[in-house]
Formats: sequence, structure tokens, C-alpha cells
Amino acid sequence: MRKKIAAANWKMNLSLLQGEQLINDILQSGIKLKEGQEVVIATPFPYLLKAKTLLKNYPGFYLGAQNCYSEKSGAFTGEVSAEMLQSVGVDYVILGHSERREYFEESNAMLAKKIDMALAYGLKPIFCCGEPLEVRKAEGQNAYVATQLEESLFHLSAEQLQQVVIAYEPIWAIGTGLTASAAQAQDMHAYIRSQIAAKYGREAALHLSILYGGSAKPANAGELFACPDVDGGLIGGASLVAADFTAIIEKLS
Ligand code: PGA
Repeated sequence: MRKKIAAANWKMNLSLLQGEQLINDILQSGIKLKEGQEVVIATPFPYLLKAKTLLKNYPGFYLGAQNCYSEKSGAFTGEVSAEMLQSVGVDYVILGHSERREYFEESNAMLAKKIDMALAYGLKPIFCCGEPLEVRKAEGQNAYVATQLEESLFHLSAEQLQQVVIAYEPIWAIGTGLTASAAQAQDMHAYIRSQIAAKYGREAALHLSILYGGSAKPANAGELFACPDVDGGLIGGASLVAADFTAIIEKLS
């Protein structure tokens, strides 16, 4: 009923040649996607065009970018617009990753603008949310994530929201080897879905894909993806190794 997605977030890794090899290894692994399953590969900007040509004959495989700017065009040296991404055939764009929030000071308000830009140019945002360790220790994670959703997404119409995928990524689990337990992931995903239901209605909430991210790997993906409200994963480190990423794709339920 809702899409199950394995999304690779390469971050700032790999050369063009290594990236091509990785995509080819994944595509040639013989992996078959079932109905309703999608794979997204979010490469660095310079590799998007090449990746598009590699992925284009593979149904269910989509191209992602890792960011876009909040303004339409103009004097913003070094930035990349949503319109540019659309023009090279990008399907998805990751927005609000915790690394962007932390190192590039992206606020909830700025992310609301980026979401609008992405949607205006037909890109599907993968909107990342998630709490830092101190907040989790103080059991404040629900309120923290609720504010992220409210300030960056809740201005959208119900129709716009249908284009959005949410990724819950507890910051304490990203790249640390610490994964949220299946129960912790399920609790938060159910909470996010309840917030969406309260704002947009039950149907909208049931159709929204919510991915888990944070040290997901072949060994834990099966248990995480089996949770009723976990619809796949946003995968960093383990997406850089073809065998690991294909093993994770195979765990999509
Ligand atoms: P990780 O990264 O899988 O390496 O923890 C996930 C992410 O940051 O999207």
C-alpha cells in the first residue's frame, strides 16, 4: 500500500569511477524488486548525470541528490538549485540530514523553504528528522521530532505531503555503530505517523513512507524493516559496499 524504500546516502564519499562501479555492481547483482519497492541512490552532485544514465533502464531504481538550495536561482555561488536537479533527471532529494543541520546550520525554517523548492520542481523530498543523544536521554525525543515536522512540513497541503518521504534518523545512531532497537524505531515511527494523522488525516498517514536511518546494516535491517511502521531505510556507510546494500534491499518487506 505504501512504498518500501532502500535509499543509499553516499555522503561525501567515492570517486566517480568507484561510484560507477558500485552502481553497476548493485544493478548486476540480479536483485529483483518486488511491487511497491524502490531503491534510491543519492550520489554527490558531480556524479548525478552519470548515475542517471546508469539507472535509467532499471525500473524501481531512482536517482537522489543529497541537498538543494532554498532559493530559486541567482547569485548564490557554489549552491545547487532544485530546478538544476530536475533538469538532470533527479527524482529524490535528501533534505534536513543531521549533518547539514549541524555543520551548515540548516534550521527548520530554512528546510521548510527547501522542501517548497523541491516540490515546486517535481523532486520528492526525503525529509530527515531525529533527536540528539541528550534529548533521547531526557526522553524528549517525541516533542523534538514533532517540532521538526511542524516547522518544516506542516505548512504543506495534503496533496504536497503525498510527495514526501520521512526518514527518522536518531543522531546518536548515525555512523556510530549504535542502532536504535527495533522497538525504539517502531515507537518513533508510529509516533510520527500519528502526528501526520492528526494533521492530515489517517489516509494520508497510512500512505506516507517512513524510513529508518542510523547504522542500518544487513545484520539489523531485517528486524527493523519488519516493524509495522518502518518502511525501509536511509543507509549511509553500508550503502558504499554493493554486497551490503543489496543485502539490505533484500530485507525490504
Ligand atoms: P549510517 O548513516 O548508515 O552510516 O549511520 C545514515 C545516514 O546518515 O543517512
